[in-house]
Amino acid sequence: MTNLWIDYLSVRLLGGMNRRLVGADFETFSESVELQARGNVEVVKRYQLDWLVPLTYMHRTAEDFGAEIEFKTGKTPMHYPPTDWTAEDYEEKIVVPDGIGDSIQKRIDYTEKIVEEIPEVPVFAFISGPFTTLTQRVGTEQVLMDLYRSPDAVKKAMEKTEEYVVRCIEEGFANVEGLAGICLDELHGNKGIMGPDMYREFGAEYCGSVIDACEKSDLIFTQHNCGESAMFDIQISEWKPMAYSYAYYGERGENPDIPGMIEKYTDDTLLLGQIDPQHFYNYEPSEMKKHVKQLLETVLKSLKENDHTSKFGIYSGCEVPPTYGKFDNIGAVTDAMLEYGEDMQEEIIG
Ligand SMILES: [Zn+2]
Repeated sequence: MTNLWIDYLSVRLLGGMNRRLVGADFETFSESVELQARGNVEVVKRYQLDWLVPLTYMHRTAEDFGAEIEFKTGKTPMHYPPTDWTAEDYEEKIVVPDGIGDSIQKRIDYTEKIVEEIPEVPVFAFISGPFTTLTQRVGTEQVLMDLYRSPDAVKKAMEKTEEYVVRCIEEGFANVEGLAGICLDELHGNKGIMGPDMYREFGAEYCGSVIDACEKSDLIFTQHNCGESAMFDIQISEWKPMAYSYAYYGERGENPDIPGMIEKYTDDTLLLGQIDPQHFYNYEPSEMKKHVKQLLETVLKSLKENDHTSKFGIYSGCEVPPTYGKFDNIGAVTDAMLEYGEDMQEEIIG
């Protein structure tokens, strides 16, 4: 991907705060196509976002495989995994849904409405990858143990989640007219969870077809990784997504440093980073503005050093905390970009 001359870097946020803009609790919001569409459109208009990955909760592909999602007030919807899972269950209970399952269909429906309403804003549909889908159905700990105890059973199940993710793209999202692309989340491509060789064997192996499905469907392939120590070398250098947003949690995990990230990966992708999501609730808007200005300075200087004019976007470093995030802090991010973005772009990049 080539560098573009731009006025200022783009802004994107990921978050469930959209539901608060329409005054709905998580469960009501997640069930209603109408509210999800309205909340997401609202977020884009109110905060002048340059692109959008609409998200309510992550587990929709897993839900179509039978995962039960619990909604608790004040918490992000969670899947509580089965406690009596056995190796045989991979074959018996992991069954590819017929056609497109109800949960993903809901995501397709609200995505369609959003694209219709804001055709000028590129929208990328979120989807969990094959490994993430399996862990969100069976439970991460269980699957990780079974990688050692019954690897063949896990692999057979992976073929099924792979088949379904590919189908959701080719037969589902591909039909959403005007959709820009897909945002795949393979959060277990994460060194805190397993080594690169293991991820290659059990996770990455099943993603090639997903990337191909995007290409075949004329959907731009992008990625988000919610993990703390993402396997950038596989997921960026090998898969070459158009854009890659990564989680950033301050002190937790392998802290990606911006100059290093830009030097290593901006030839292969447009990086999206890296406001610490906690700042959305622990900062005052004035602090957030200062923080974004500093971030912008670091990013632009590194881009300049690496002969890039763009290839980085300002992004919430994972999900804006849906319950406790402050709206004013989202506003402060866009305000900072509108106030300083263009001048600093010109001053530093030239
Ligand atoms: Zn995330």
